[in-house]
Amino acid sequence: MTTPQAEPLGLAAGEAEAHRRDEADPGHRHLFHVPPADGGDHPESAYLAGNSLGLQPRATRDELLADLDAWGRLGVEGHLEAERPWLPYHELLTGPAARLVGARPTEAVVMNSLTVNLHLLMVSFYRPAGARTRIVIEDAAFPSDSYAVRSQARFHGLDPDDTVVRLRPRAGEDALRTEDVTDYLAAEGDRVALLLLGGVNYLTGELLDIPAITAAGRAAGAVVGWDLAHAVGNVPLALHDWDVDFAAWCSYKYLNSGPGALAGVFVHERHLGDENLPRFEGWWSTAAATRFEMTPVSRPPATVEAWQISNPPIFAMGPVRTSLELFDAVGMTALRARSQRLTGWLESLLDEVTVGRPLRVVTPRDPARRGCQLSVRIGSGSANELTKRLRYEHGVIADAREPDVVRFAPVPLYSTYLDCWRAAAALASTVGATSVSARSEPGLRAPQSRTKGGSA
Ligand SMILES: *Cc1c(COP(=O)(O)O)cnc(C)c1O
Repeated sequence: MTTPQAEPLGLAAGEAEAHRRDEADPGHRHLFHVPPADGGDHPESAYLAGNSLGLQPRATRDELLADLDAWGRLGVEGHLEAERPWLPYHELLTGPAARLVGARPTEAVVMNSLTVNLHLLMVSFYRPAGARTRIVIEDAAFPSDSYAVRSQARFHGLDPDDTVVRLRPRAGEDALRTEDVTDYLAAEGDRVALLLLGGVNYLTGELLDIPAITAAGRAAGAVVGWDLAHAVGNVPLALHDWDVDFAAWCSYKYLNSGPGALAGVFVHERHLGDENLPRFEGWWSTAAATRFEMTPVSRPPATVEAWQISNPPIFAMGPVRTSLELFDAVGMTALRARSQRLTGWLESLLDEVTVGRPLRVVTPRDPARRGCQLSVRIGSGSANELTKRLRYEHGVIADAREPDVVRFAPVPLYSTYLDCWRAAAALASTVGATSVSARSEPGLRAPQSRTKGGSA
């Protein structure tokens, strides 16, 4: 790969090093379809966008076709006679989903989409009363979550501007500290009805201290829910032991279950069977044994399945099942370890690239405070334009969050050290070095002597 800018030495030496590391620490790329590159010197893309949409496991197609064939062969009888009967199909997903998030099997279920589930959970768990009406989210919350909580406030006749509190990092900092949350709760906790934060923030990649914040929120008398869209399949979770009230996640990011895939829900055991909790119901909310008794009144089970409403889309469940089985086989502990090795290496390469360029890694530097995503704030220009150039000139797929963040996620199941090296090298060749006088970004380190002045 030729680069117009002077290349930092470690980065230049890195391609051979990347191959060496890939041999020693190979991952499971062979189990996935990797999109071909749209540009650059490599046939496959360096796919670092699994935080946005995970790659397709090779097993998914055949498993999906088998479910489709059952419909063709059996028609309605497939409900009971398919190899994987449709009536209890969702139960096949419960065990592996529960293991992945650290739940008991009664506490986890796969259903609907993420934001829909957040609403269904808020029906039960956002219950403003008296002075305790606030919903606390992060200022950098994903827009869908922002819209969801604002619309919940309105649904309760409250003004969303007064009701929704957005926690910001301190001036000059990119990520929230645990104390930023716990200090707020100590001061204002008696006004908080619901704390609903992202376990891993979609923009910065920050992993919050879920157990500590959950404990503080509950001690303040609030209900504590987590959006785990960017945490599930990325970091180990122990929702039951952490005493989380409820959580929801999607399955198309790190869980590789396909665009718009069915999502997951956790409700802590202490809430199961509580008849005082409002819930929206349908025929899948009643206990399976009574579902076909055609009674006018439901008899919900004392499990999270009471939050189900409709009969589930079987062809959408197959890809989630296939993917969850892969997580079961590989194990989150091994994935987390490889994730930290890959991400640490990408970080060291990005540290070389950012020298003398208007780029800054905004993800926490402590590996315990992040998953596999590293976010780079670009000092000038458009993040969208930059990711297009990475894709079409280098075959590197990252993603942009406008106006100025580019996200790189080396996913431990299928990303490689070579992907990391290609991303860093592509970024180095795409973003020109700034002259010393042009640098205005705070926190940017001075160019080191080994960068040989920026002309090319
Ligand atoms: C990806 C993501 C969503 C997406 O919501 P859908 O309902 O699946 O469309 C919502 N919230 C967060 C935090 C996300 O990362």
